[in-house]
Amino acid sequence: MTEFPYRGVTDLRHERGGFDVIGDVHGCCDELEDLLGRLGYEIAWHGAGGRRAVTVTPPRDRRAVFVGDLVDRGPRSPDVLRIVMSMHRAGAALAVPGNHDHKLHRWLDGRVKHLSHGLDRTVQQLQTESPEFHASLTPFLESLPPFVWLDGGRLAVAHAGILDHMLTAPLSGAIRRFCIFGDTDGQVDANGLAIRFDWTPRYGGESEVVYGHTPVAQPERRGRTLCIDTGCCFGGALTALRWPQMEIISVPARATYWQAARAPGLPPPRPGAPA
Ligand code: MN
Repeated sequence: MTEFPYRGVTDLRHERGGFDVIGDVHGCCDELEDLLGRLGYEIAWHGAGGRRAVTVTPPRDRRAVFVGDLVDRGPRSPDVLRIVMSMHRAGAALAVPGNHDHKLHRWLDGRVKHLSHGLDRTVQQLQTESPEFHASLTPFLESLPPFVWLDGGRLAVAHAGILDHMLTAPLSGAIRRFCIFGDTDGQVDANGLAIRFDWTPRYGGESEVVYGHTPVAQPERRGRTLCIDTGCCFGGALTALRWPQMEIISVPARATYWQAARAPGLPPPRPGAPA
């Protein structure tokens, strides 16, 4: 078992939009259904309990792209997975893994002993799900690519960020780690949270990079990068970018599901990095 088993194809430049890039959902399924509805997707649930299934029909010539962190903190992580896995299977969505999805993968693999940062809630919610549902999660997560490069190379989507050379370099553990965790140096702060640096000054590529991971009050553009994690699970909003229209669609959180442990906003650049 490699540390980052994500095997999906990253170079999807031949895939043309429109794409609806959707920020960190974190188990906020009510808001995901609200947002997909606003974007014109039709959602039909079938069955009940652990046998629930869902069909999502996208608008003509549109697909969703999830930036990852599908699970943890919110009240309905299994249903978020149901929606995204169903759309993925039907070709109606692409997705990349976030650090929380990565940790869920490690938990499923028996490698996480300490449940924290909302994984405890996901694990609790999974208790009422069927063995078949549990068994479907690992193959789905491992089928994801660490990032996707789309639409003739004009759009790239990664959970935490990406740098120019990573779009074309052979995939390495370091690249996968950067896409999932961003620019970190292994240090933690006084609260035990990984110290993050703003990687966007180091990105000089032509592709528009859309990412999540760092909650911001409003979608935040820096150079050719756009953060669309508007902190839905913290009582913010769930946000989509309609590509290539470059239109932002947000729906408000229906509740505050989790108390943020860090101050909102993008982190400072790494000392010595180009401004
Ligand atoms: Mn997140």
